[in-house]
Amino acid sequence: MIRVTENLGVIRELLAAACRDAGRGGDPVRLLAVSKMQPVTGVLAAAEAGQRDFGENFVQEGIDKMAASGRNDLVWHFIGHLQSNKTRPVATHFHWVHTVDRFKIAERLSEQRPADRADLNICLQVNVDNQAGKSGIACNEVLPLARRVAGLPRIRLRGLMCLPAIRQGFPAQREPFARLRELFEELRRDGLPVDTLSMGMSDDFRAAVFEGSTIVRIGTALFGARQ
Ligand SMILES: *Cc1c(COP(=O)(O)O)cnc(C)c1O
Repeated sequence: MIRVTENLGVIRELLAAACRDAGRGGDPVRLLAVSKMQPVTGVLAAAEAGQRDFGENFVQEGIDKMAASGRNDLVWHFIGHLQSNKTRPVATHFHWVHTVDRFKIAERLSEQRPADRADLNICLQVNVDNQAGKSGIACNEVLPLARRVAGLPRIRLRGLMCLPAIRQGFPAQREPFARLRELFEELRRDGLPVDTLSMGMSDDFRAAVFEGSTIVRIGTALFGARQ
């Protein structure tokens, strides 16, 4: 598991360099280690090296891994597609959900969040590329949905997330992230207290950092190919 530790060191350096080059000196970017389809040993190796945020796409796998880790100092983010019949375990166990794309899902998470837990952090997933058949709300639905979600108890609207189509080259990679940032700024102008842009993965996180990402979600570059 030395590899995970080494990879983590490399990614931290690349992230710091991206922040520096983008002129974002002391502006922190949170590294979300995407541990889906990776064994808990990888999570533990990363945790040992100081990593705290982990991302999972499948509800039961994520919950099993939380328990198997035996640690209660980790922060778990749900980043997979969320069906309405799976909201309860997510509301019960996770700290963040990045993939809310319907009011009904937000409402269920709000109702089902246990009263003895801190508010569940929520991002709205935006289909920035307008890809047919892909999850996420259309750009013109972001503001109205954000206003409604922001009013719900026990969940806290933190910002926006996107999973754009793969692009080659830095300028092309920046495009969808720039669009998400514009939508985010629109929410701020509207007075919504959002602070999170969840964007950027193993192959495009530098472009995302240049467009203001506050959380990059990295799997393969950290843990290697998924099983
Ligand atoms: C799998 C996944 C990632 C991580 O992707 P890598 O290319 O392995 O870094 C990030 N975000 C989401 C939503 C994912 O499903």
